[in-house]
Amino acid sequence: MADPANRYPENVPGKFYVDDQCIDCDLCRETAPANFKRNDDGGHSYVYKQAENPDEEARCNDGRLPGRSHRQRRLRFSSVANALLKTDFSFRL
Ligand code: SF4
Repeated sequence: MADPANRYPENVPGKFYVDDQCIDCDLCRETAPANFKRNDDGGHSYVYKQAENPDEEARCNDGRLPGRSHRQRRLRFSSVANALLKTDFSFRL
């Protein structure tokens, strides 16, 4: 379960944030480039500007996925990624 105490310190204060479970998938930076950036040294995203208008709010919530906060969406993506990482894609001949 995500814990606000684990949010990265680069996040600006506010309701949207990225915590230490970020898998660096790039979705947030593609969807809301006005709000998310990548920490190249750390290999993760962070919120550098909170949503300031309805468009940015919608992008931060990402209409393609349910959820009212980026934290919830990030958890969903992490779950998918973790499931894929645990999947054995090897084939037997
Ligand atoms: S969408 Fe979530 S997991 Fe992907 S880069 Fe952004 S914060 Fe990280």
